[in-house]
Amino acid sequence: MSQSTSTTQQPPSPTARPDGVIAQYPTPAGATVHVTDLGPDTHWRYTSQCTGCPHKDGYRNADTARSYARTHAKKCYEPAVTA
Ligand SMILES: [Zn+2]
Repeated sequence: MSQSTSTTQQPPSPTARPDGVIAQYPTPAGATVHVTDLGPDTHWRYTSQCTGCPHKDGYRNADTARSYARTHAKKCYEPAVTA
């Protein structure tokens, strides 16, 4: 099993999280919205993804990504469950 789907560059930050995650916002329902930096070669460099619902979006700007992720985290009370 190979996981080498991306370049091997490592962020210089000592507090770097795996997979380029630059911010995490917990939701009231216990999920987390992750903001990920995919690197300068990607069109939508920053993505937000929620673990509690299908929410996923892309952004060109880190501050915008954090802002939207935080906004989503606040309003994501219930996962969209379809039985
Ligand atoms: Zn959500």
